[in-house]
Amino acid sequence: MAEYNVKSLKAEEFINDGEILDTLDYAEKNKDNLELIDKILEKAKERKGLNHREASVLLACENEEKIKEMYALAKQIKKDFYGNRIVMFAPLYLSNYCVNGCVYCPYHMKNKHIGRKKLTQEEVKKEVIALQDMGHKRLAIEAGEDPKNNPIEYILECINTIYSIKHKNGAIRRVNVNIAATTVENYRKLKDAGIGTYILFQETYHKKSYEQLHPTGPKHNYDYHTEAMDRAMEGGIDDVGLGVLFGLEMYKYEFAGLLMHAEHLEAVHGVGPHTISVPRIKRADDIDPNVFDNGIDDDTFAKICALIRIAVPYTGMIISTRESQKVREKVIGLGVSQISGASRTSVGGYTEEIRPHDTEQFDVSDNRTLDEVVLWLMKMGYIPSFCTACYREGRTGDRFMALCKSKQIQNCCHPNALMTLKEYLMDYASEETRKVGEELIKSELENIPKEKVKKICKDHLEKIEQGIRDFR
Ligand code: SAM
Repeated sequence: MAEYNVKSLKAEEFINDGEILDTLDYAEKNKDNLELIDKILEKAKERKGLNHREASVLLACENEEKIKEMYALAKQIKKDFYGNRIVMFAPLYLSNYCVNGCVYCPYHMKNKHIGRKKLTQEEVKKEVIALQDMGHKRLAIEAGEDPKNNPIEYILECINTIYSIKHKNGAIRRVNVNIAATTVENYRKLKDAGIGTYILFQETYHKKSYEQLHPTGPKHNYDYHTEAMDRAMEGGIDDVGLGVLFGLEMYKYEFAGLLMHAEHLEAVHGVGPHTISVPRIKRADDIDPNVFDNGIDDDTFAKICALIRIAVPYTGMIISTRESQKVREKVIGLGVSQISGASRTSVGGYTEEIRPHDTEQFDVSDNRTLDEVVLWLMKMGYIPSFCTACYREGRTGDRFMALCKSKQIQNCCHPNALMTLKEYLMDYASEETRKVGEELIKSELENIPKEKVKKICKDHLEKIEQGIRDFR
């Protein structure tokens, strides 16, 4: 039996099944132990995070009063570290060719109903211009795994094309990448191409289920997939994004595994994950309905989000349009810091007038336009941010974490968010959104603590009004 060892580079040791089962047992036995729960909550209030065992006890706890305390703490931590900013992004599907057999994903190789499509560079350009015309500055590129149709050279060419497009006032300033686990050499190439975060969802941490859910193709190899982030970091990528596809396995197991993975990255590389995504499985074309048996309800989902916020306060949390407006509203308050807007999950979907479904990965639950999402956020008191400054200033990995821990975010990210929102309002927003946004910027300027920074920000806002763009 493999031993649990957080610093090991072997998947079976840092995501150790015995340790997870022991943790779940410990959590179950202590779920009514109010003394221990209070102690864990006290520790969480120090805002230095919790380990997987402590966080699992909170997840197991069903005491309503204590759950209310968890939610209040998650809200407070979110406010302290991220203020009221919400970073905006959109996914861009490059290709749905895939050689894997993932039983929950409509891109699986045997699916003959789905139209297979791969964007040409000319089509990438058109998609990016459509996204820029909405106001997006940050993309997450997505592709199936297919060494013949989507080799790393194709992905690199697409990244290059995306960064090279200057259109009206728009330019994509950060390309995050969600492609299959690959080699150190390929991660180095992605790093050299200037990617932002490398995102790879674990799907499930449970090895046996993982192998059943990925019966064929390179993705079948659990260890290779689970050790991908170590290879990415070895290849020089500072920012990595973890995620679990909730609904595939038992959520308590996934939650413990996810936190153990974060602890492992911190222990080995000195920096934890930059982001954690919390996708929930959605029904999709050519998928056996039994795959969806472990689905979780909205309340459990909210509790997971709140506890991730408490357990890893410095890690951004991402929610996609898989979730409805209602669910997004709830979890944004509990700790989510990045959301996608106006997403289309089909290859070439942004250039179609009507949302196409034929090459789609899954149905989106939030179909609003970016302008509607921006307005909705502002009406709830959030600042939609199109900022990408950290990445361009080299503030990635541990340097970003240091900024977060120094609590200087309010003097740095807050003004940047206001400036990029101002750009959005000037260049892309509807009249109503612009009106609401201008008022928000006016009042939020007062929340910049340092007078000197406030003055610089005011000065830049005036310059944006005069037509100058892209302040760093
Ligand atoms: N090929 C890459 C890989 O293997 O990681 C990227 C995969 S895909 C474009 C992005 C993510 O979509 C997957 O990691 C998976 O978690 C998610 N996904 C697949 N099928 C889904 C479904 N039916 N509902 C919700 N999310 C799904």
